[in-house]
Amino acid sequence: MMKVAVISDIHANRHAFEAVLEAVANSDASELWCLGDLVGYGAEPDSCVELARNHAAVCLAGNHDLAVVGELPLDEFSRGASLAAQWTVEVMRQDNLAFLASLRPEGQEGTIGLYHASPRDPVWEYVLSALLAELCLDSQAQRIGLIGHSHVALSFVREEGALTTGEPRRAGTQLDISSGEWLLNPGSVGQPRDGDPRASWLMLDLDEMSVSFMRTEYDVAGAAGAIRAARLPDSLAERLEYGQ
Ligand code: ZN
Repeated sequence: MMKVAVISDIHANRHAFEAVLEAVANSDASELWCLGDLVGYGAEPDSCVELARNHAAVCLAGNHDLAVVGELPLDEFSRGASLAAQWTVEVMRQDNLAFLASLRPEGQEGTIGLYHASPRDPVWEYVLSALLAELCLDSQAQRIGLIGHSHVALSFVREEGALTTGEPRRAGTQLDISSGEWLLNPGSVGQPRDGDPRASWLMLDLDEMSVSFMRTEYDVAGAAGAIRAARLPDSLAERLEYGQ
């Protein structure tokens, strides 16, 4: 039996990451795959990188991870994201930075494609419309792709002979992915942007070929307090409370 817990966009939110790891430990998942953005925005980058090093069988690099290791220029980021990235570089341990530098924004596990952002542009593209998803499926080598980056839990599917459709997915939704072409986004562990502040993740059942969208409550006030204590922009703390 092979079930995989899929996570993305942890964003240095240790409180959220620990809560999800506990939920995963209490599930029947045998592996954890991470689609990137371990750091950026949040206040505990070292803890989050260490948790990923200890628990993730697979880990991609996200655009924020690439920024802190100097592989992406900071002027492509918003002001808040850029300030947080500069702060992150200053506080992080060298061995954890070296781990981030070893990661790539795309990969493949068995027949499943893994991309931080999209199959066309694994670093930057936000796949939030069916039209864009259609173009991404055209360039995707695998039938099923896992994507992160948008911080919105969602699925897109293209059944044989049909146009791509898709929608945001709420906690508890289960989907049969045994046919059709798919893009699946687990949402964000550390900074959800779909109006539900709970940490978001995905359970992928590779035997049944099904997925379940999961949410886990965590100490949002603790994570917001850590951001304020680090003197990062207050908006980064506030948005956690609204899930935006
Ligand atoms: Zn992200």
